[in-house]
Amino acid sequence: MRFLVDSTAGKLSRWLRILGHDVEYTSSLSPGEMLQLARREKRILLSRNRSLAARDSSVATTLEADGLEDQLYQVGHQFPALERAVPFSRCLICNRVLETVPKERPGNRVPQYVCQTQESFGYCAGCDKYYWKATHWEGMRARLERIFGPRFSELP
Ligand SMILES: [Zn+2]
Repeated sequence: MRFLVDSTAGKLSRWLRILGHDVEYTSSLSPGEMLQLARREKRILLSRNRSLAARDSSVATTLEADGLEDQLYQVGHQFPALERAVPFSRCLICNRVLETVPKERPGNRVPQYVCQTQESFGYCAGCDKYYWKATHWEGMRARLERIFGPRFSELP
């Protein structure tokens, strides 16, 4: 799914990327510009700001809760396809889809002990950054399982 998230829900934008969705984040566009961008790129605009959905509910959805988990729950309920992405498949910094690269590729870019525990790495060509499934991934996975259920009982 494709989303546009504004500065009222910055944390949510990161978690939608963790779930594997295409998320544009903006803190600088005006309401009119955000609605325009959402229409042009067929993105769902998510915001705590009610005036956006009041102006065009066909592209904008109001987030009812302040808390991240309630927001994820709401979006998952409203858009069931949310759960069907591939989690941990996208760069959390720039939104690009990660390449899967063999464990030999990063060389000395990642610590030796990490290479011993991983079969492969995710690589973002945009940020020149390697991702791997370390303990913080397990924490994220557990949180997704708490919100969405057993679909997230294992890391992909
Ligand atoms: Zn990146």
